[in-house]
Amino acid sequence: MRIGIIGAGQLGQMLGHAATDLGHSCYFLDPSTRPPAARVGPVIQARFDDPAALAILAEKCDVLTYEFENVAVDALVDVAKIAAVYPSPSALRHAQDRLTEKQLFERLDIPIPLYRPIESAQDLADAATAIGLPLVVKTRRMGYDGKGQAVLHEAGQIEDAWQALGGSALIAEQWVDFDYEVSAIGVRNAAGDIATYSLTQNEHAGGILRVSRAPVEDVALTERAERYIHRLLKHLDYVGVLALELFVLGEKLLANEFAPRVHNSGHWTIEGAATSQFTNHLLAITNQHPGPTGNLGHAGMLNLIGTIPQAVRQLDIGWLHDYGKTPRTDRKLGHITVVADSSEDRDRQLREISDIVTRSTGPEGTGA
Ligand code: AMP
Repeated sequence: MRIGIIGAGQLGQMLGHAATDLGHSCYFLDPSTRPPAARVGPVIQARFDDPAALAILAEKCDVLTYEFENVAVDALVDVAKIAAVYPSPSALRHAQDRLTEKQLFERLDIPIPLYRPIESAQDLADAATAIGLPLVVKTRRMGYDGKGQAVLHEAGQIEDAWQALGGSALIAEQWVDFDYEVSAIGVRNAAGDIATYSLTQNEHAGGILRVSRAPVEDVALTERAERYIHRLLKHLDYVGVLALELFVLGEKLLANEFAPRVHNSGHWTIEGAATSQFTNHLLAITNQHPGPTGNLGHAGMLNLIGTIPQAVRQLDIGWLHDYGKTPRTDRKLGHITVVADSSEDRDRQLREISDIVTRSTGPEGTGA
């Protein structure tokens, strides 16, 4: 089949590799020159919401998907008249606004941190009183990798936070002193078949994912997360891969957000699971049964951010994925995956790689 992918970054690139392996061809739409996915298929160079360019992509393809969530929903609704769009624009609409996303979690009885919509500095002061400090202030739309966020530790910071972020619609959220963060990744096709991956433990620094480890060996947490992701997938009549990010607090799981797409915390599935998240996304959007999602070992993934040190290229452990991007501070340039027979061995290998990255770049290169 011909698959149209909106966005030609690293997720598009990895989707493109999986599509090629499945015998599909890919076309991309992206405004940048020489984006990572140009390696795997032709790219229409245009803005993501350019109706004419989207129509050209749809005419060329049997099915459309997207690699990131800041695509204009209305433009997708229009183009869905030409070719099927998965995940559906309505699923995307929920994920684009942190307020509607939280309201959806509440409707589905998925626990979340305390929060309030914010429309004024006074709302922020009221939220600080009602929820308590620290408080995380987030823009409702267009945030990623911790961008568009501020943490309030004391009431004296309210005015500054309002000045910095108040130009956009906001929410304020309880600061969660979590034990650790996990993501639950699931896939569903139009026939309603669902498969889920093992829970993945994620480490962030500066709002950016640094390291993921799977499986999380906690049966109760895994079952709870699976219930939540099943609810989401069914309620949204979802088609494709979805990643649900959660905070772990003792026995509790609190949902942070969901991404209606393949996700950085699922990159380990390329080498570490029976079927990768990329292959499963493609199987789902072409209405085939999801492939098996079992773990092939204890997997770890370390993002290579800002630079890919030469010493990492020379390593004889792990699988290096270089997206071919120009180095820039805080930019995800690649990742490296390890799969080991035990979690101890996996963690030893991750430490070894992390030490090499740190020696080459300083502590900013990795949060591991
Ligand atoms: P987000 O953009 O919402 O995914 O936030 C990026 C990262 O910031 C999360 O993965 C957490 O590490 C941290 N974070 C976000 N919201 C909260 C919160 N309410 N409490 C504690 N940490 C948070």
